[in-house]
Amino acid sequence: MNKPLRLLLAGAVALACAQLHAADDRGWSTPEKPFRIYGDTWYVGTHGLSAILITSPQGHVLIDGTLPENAKLVEQNIRSLGFRLGDVKAILNSHAHADHAGAIAALAAASGAPVYASHYGAEELKAGGDYAEDPQNGEAPHFPKVAKVNEVSDGGTVKVGDIVVTAHYTPGHTPGATTWTWRSCDKDRCLDVVYADSITAFTNDVYRYSDPAHPERVTAFRKTFEVVAALPCDVLVTTHPDMSDFLGRAAAHRAGKQPDPLFDRDACKALAQSSVVKFDEKLKQERAAKP
Ligand SMILES: [Zn+2]
Repeated sequence: MNKPLRLLLAGAVALACAQLHAADDRGWSTPEKPFRIYGDTWYVGTHGLSAILITSPQGHVLIDGTLPENAKLVEQNIRSLGFRLGDVKAILNSHAHADHAGAIAALAAASGAPVYASHYGAEELKAGGDYAEDPQNGEAPHFPKVAKVNEVSDGGTVKVGDIVVTAHYTPGHTPGATTWTWRSCDKDRCLDVVYADSITAFTNDVYRYSDPAHPERVTAFRKTFEVVAALPCDVLVTTHPDMSDFLGRAAAHRAGKQPDPLFDRDACKALAQSSVVKFDEKLKQERAAKP
């Protein structure tokens, strides 16, 4: 993998979804000009939060909606690319925190598209993020509840036209956290695109990953790192673009930089490895703080 990305991932600043008060500083509602990522895959999010559109003549797939107040912004981005929100036939969610799921209820209502999430993700969306087993429950702001959510199993798919998006359960950041993958083609060249969910560990005084009463918390997170590292991964997009310098890499790609930093088969592995280091640090801190 290229050196700048490695350095960035190694030093990735922990992003707390709970710290929404700092949202403006991070550009979470700052407009970003939408652009083609690769083939039928487009970026329609804001400067600080990803939303992805995958298009086909039979209809489109939208992944994530970003903050509740960004629904119009995402819709405008879709329109400015020449597509219609009304042609979105499926809305998928990475995880049920306001910065990724906040606008989904509004976008689902405006498009009429069904919403899809993992088993726990569906419960979390229907609860508007008010979910007891969420490590950030009580801190992360709630968001408009999504009335109906279709459950996708681990390894299950959502299909619209010739688009096939696969769900990979990657719990840890939230119980329902999901990474989505699909193939996008430009003429004859097809690439594996990964929309990696947040795999960062945040805890409060109540929830501890290291809680001896819940060994499954550590087990699940460690499996998540393995799952992400093993994904076929030509193009990595992260829910928070700055976690993988996604916008920087995409801009360099559009400018024709070689080697192309957008195509990096080691990117998922590097993201997982840097996250393991952070997670081990978090466990150490928790155990040291234990009374
Ligand atoms: Zn989050």
